[in-house]
Amino acid sequence: MSDFKLETICVQGGWTPKTGEPRVLPIYQSTTFKYDTSDAMGALFDLEASGYFYTRLQNPTNDFVAKKICDLEGGYAAMLTSSGQAANFYAVFNICEAGDHLIISSALYGGTFNLLTTTVSKMGIETTVVDPEISEEDLRAAIKPNTKCILAESISNPSLAVLDFDKFVKVAHEAGIPVIVDNTFPTPVNCRPFEYGVDIITHSTTKYMDGHATAVGGCIVDSGNFDWSKYPDKFPGLCTPDESYHGITYTEKFGKAAYITKATSQLMRDLGSIQSPQNAFYVNLGLETLHLRMERHCSNALAVAKWLKANDKIAWVNYPGLEGDQYYERAKKYMPKGTCGVLTFGLKGGRAASVSFMDHLKLVAIVTHVADTRSCVLHPASHTHRQMTDEQLLEAGVQPDLIRFSVGIENVDDIIADLEQALASM
Ligand SMILES: *Cc1c(COP(=O)(O)O)cnc(C)c1O
Repeated sequence: MSDFKLETICVQGGWTPKTGEPRVLPIYQSTTFKYDTSDAMGALFDLEASGYFYTRLQNPTNDFVAKKICDLEGGYAAMLTSSGQAANFYAVFNICEAGDHLIISSALYGGTFNLLTTTVSKMGIETTVVDPEISEEDLRAAIKPNTKCILAESISNPSLAVLDFDKFVKVAHEAGIPVIVDNTFPTPVNCRPFEYGVDIITHSTTKYMDGHATAVGGCIVDSGNFDWSKYPDKFPGLCTPDESYHGITYTEKFGKAAYITKATSQLMRDLGSIQSPQNAFYVNLGLETLHLRMERHCSNALAVAKWLKANDKIAWVNYPGLEGDQYYERAKKYMPKGTCGVLTFGLKGGRAASVSFMDHLKLVAIVTHVADTRSCVLHPASHTHRQMTDEQLLEAGVQPDLIRFSVGIENVDDIIADLEQALASM
């Protein structure tokens, strides 16, 4: 399947039935799997044979969906997680432990920012937050001997900063550390971070991949390109025997699959944030139309962005797909087919006007979500980023009057008419 074009993988990747098998991906709604002999199951526990024994570690439905996402990203191995939060946590915790350090971009989803500053610090992991527009020299200077990775978003939620992939990848690889990119917003339909040298990709599949607001989920994809064994002192968890797994050394035994195998057999075993097979089934249904929906999300968002830009009650609009946007040129370079369906804007009346405008919308709903078929809005300063100080808000690129608008795939004339009536009736 990985030889086919992206649209074909969306529709038919992952589950490829043999003769007489179900055409549609089956839901393996079973916690456990049966074996004929004790030895056959023992080999699985030793990671000597591959197969299923308990759904907390692996489940076929989940693995078929992970395989589809892996092929869409052009990766080597992938795993699903219960949420995007779990994906970002596992992606980092798989190579960082107490005493280690990581660098994150300040332009991150609020939940990821909290996770990778406050929560991981309680585990003894130190984080440096950098402005994504940091110079190469300053980024290089932020790397310490115990720095294990750099994490950023391809298009940040909600500040819509497009990542300077070349800069982050170059500096990280010079220092012998991997780059982890959360590719939730553009999805592999519009951006393929591995092509720009990124090592590991994470997703909140809750967003465009599911795309219908039915299932919370996450995914980690490994390119298989980062050579952990070149830096055994830096990545002992991958390059020295795992005593909790009969002394297996992941890089020696699994080569390019070392990172995902460790995350599955160690982190998932012990922390257990699995995606339910039922939810994986919904994600797979969503993936079948991802390429079509992304196209419409992007064309609708561009039309809305142009309309807002031309309206004299609107103070500002950010949309990386809009000509003149500060990230327009970079978006053209790294995501030439389009960006995403999310844009942000503020009203001339400031924070109070933005909130009042939202209350007057009818078709466009106020919900804590982005990236599903239905148009929706959210005011980060009052909602998702409520716990942040004004300083942290601005650092994360979130102005107090910012409305995050996730443009759906309805008829764009109806969406614009709703904005028009809300502005008129305020
Ligand atoms: C929503 C989101 C997350 C968190 O994902 P959940 O599935 O809600 O846990 C992480 N990163 C980005 C960019 C997101 O938009």
